[in-house]
Amino acid sequence: MKKLLHIGPLAIGGTSPVRVESMLKVPLSRPEECLAQCNALGRASCELVRVAFPSPDLSGELRMLNAESTVPLMADIHFDPALALAALEAGVPSIRINPGNMARNRLRDVVRSARERKAVIRIGANGGSLNAAQLAKCRGVLSDGLAAAVEEQLHLLLDEGFDDIILSAKSSSVADTLRANALLSARYPDFPLHIGITESGSGSDGLVKSAAGLALLLGQGMGDTIRVSLTEPPEAEVAAGFSLLRALGLRKKGVTVISCPTCGRRRIDVRGLLDSLSACFETLPDDTTVAVMGCEVNGPQEARDADFGIAGTAAGVAVFRRGEILRNVALGDVPAVVAEFASEIRRERKREN
Ligand code: SF4
Repeated sequence: MKKLLHIGPLAIGGTSPVRVESMLKVPLSRPEECLAQCNALGRASCELVRVAFPSPDLSGELRMLNAESTVPLMADIHFDPALALAALEAGVPSIRINPGNMARNRLRDVVRSARERKAVIRIGANGGSLNAAQLAKCRGVLSDGLAAAVEEQLHLLLDEGFDDIILSAKSSSVADTLRANALLSARYPDFPLHIGITESGSGSDGLVKSAAGLALLLGQGMGDTIRVSLTEPPEAEVAAGFSLLRALGLRKKGVTVISCPTCGRRRIDVRGLLDSLSACFETLPDDTTVAVMGCEVNGPQEARDADFGIAGTAAGVAVFRRGEILRNVALGDVPAVVAEFASEIRRERKREN
């Protein structure tokens, strides 16, 4: 079993569910905006927020953010061990570093400070972080180079007697990311893995690329914490992360909406209805599946696995549960139907527990 780590109150590894994280997209020099983004991420159920920490001059800002954020932080450090020490002194419960870039005596200081504060260290490599020697050594096979670079960093920490470590090997190539993580998992099965596809893009292309890579990894049991890296607001990364985990049956957070693609039989504007109901669906309890189908002929049966659903009729919509039509209502009554099922599902779950 994976080693169980704690980043503040957040458990990662062990028997914990796969965690969903993101990264702040505003600089720490604008601390109030950072805090607003952290707390917006908290409301979106994000479980860990990485924050770039580029200068010791921003230690006060980092300290404030760490104290006020509703989500645990990971300070992202490049090169400078003084920054890692400053982040730990500011109270941040986890740091992301590259030990290979640090002089041995300074790395020792960082490890000592992390150990004293029970902080977790994430190490890792990505496609752009390999140096010329590492690239030459892997003879251009990026996945081998990524795994070897992480291995090198891991041994530096293990040699210092530190093992509260999360590993990460990422690339913008799905194939390289898969292979690098497969190598790491096989060699170091005890360490939690952070997984993601870097620079995957925006919109549907970015989502598909991230989802393809992450699903292939998660489907093989790899990945303890994920980030869906998108050129989008960070809340969109978190929503995509939970959506993916729900689709794979790995987390129950959130509501699953089934909707038909529509065809010539459709009786209602399914797309428009979904848009108008999105806020309403957010009031449903976690792990609810709701269906919106274009017609009553096939809809209820096609979506019989849903907790409840609506299907277009000539006069409005039919409300159905587990494939059976219960009644017909006008389109305008749908929000009230959703509220009714929200209460009913909550009551049922209370009884079951
Ligand atoms: S539910 Fe009806 S409208 Fe939607 S795809 Fe199926 S047959 Fe077509």
